[in-house]
Amino acid sequence: MVTAPQLAGFGSTPWGREWVRRVEPITVTRPNPMLPRARSLVRNDAVSVDHDNIGEFRCVVSAGKRSEIAVLALPRYTAAERKSVLRILARHTRDSATSGDLPDEVHAKLVASKLSPVPDSTEASCSCSGRIDPCLHVTAATYAISLIVDRMPTSALAVRGVDLSAATTSKDVPRRWMPIDSLSATAFFG
Ligand SMILES: [Zn+2]
Repeated sequence: MVTAPQLAGFGSTPWGREWVRRVEPITVTRPNPMLPRARSLVRNDAVSVDHDNIGEFRCVVSAGKRSEIAVLALPRYTAAERKSVLRILARHTRDSATSGDLPDEVHAKLVASKLSPVPDSTEASCSCSGRIDPCLHVTAATYAISLIVDRMPTSALAVRGVDLSAATTSKDVPRRWMPIDSLSATAFFG
């Protein structure tokens, strides 16, 4: 058996890398044996992620005979933050984000503006009774989320309450990736 070839690796874009950093801090000195196990759970499709909610990624992780629910909770952008995010998107995204993709430089600008998609206040919880923090399930869920946002950076913003997909999936909205009613004139042109 070979692992799924379509997986280029975790954190292949800055969007996913930001998640990977949560479980693979740069400063770590000793290898964490949990990481390879968590990655193989993701590669073997043992993790499913519900990414349709604002405020959380809810993940079901099947490890061994048990399934656990790992939830990664993120705060919504405030109204002011949301305006700033939309302004950055308007400046750095030329065309519609129909594929769910966003340029890497949007991520860099968000981080520089203290609007990081994965803020320090991100919280993880799990239904298991494991004492290691983060547990295997949260670690696997984090890797699974990193793949999703690598493939679809818009999902990193959707979970924070800035949903660009509503416009992109609707045929009625011509080549505009932002719903008109979601932004004020000052946010767009300011
Ligand atoms: Zn757990």
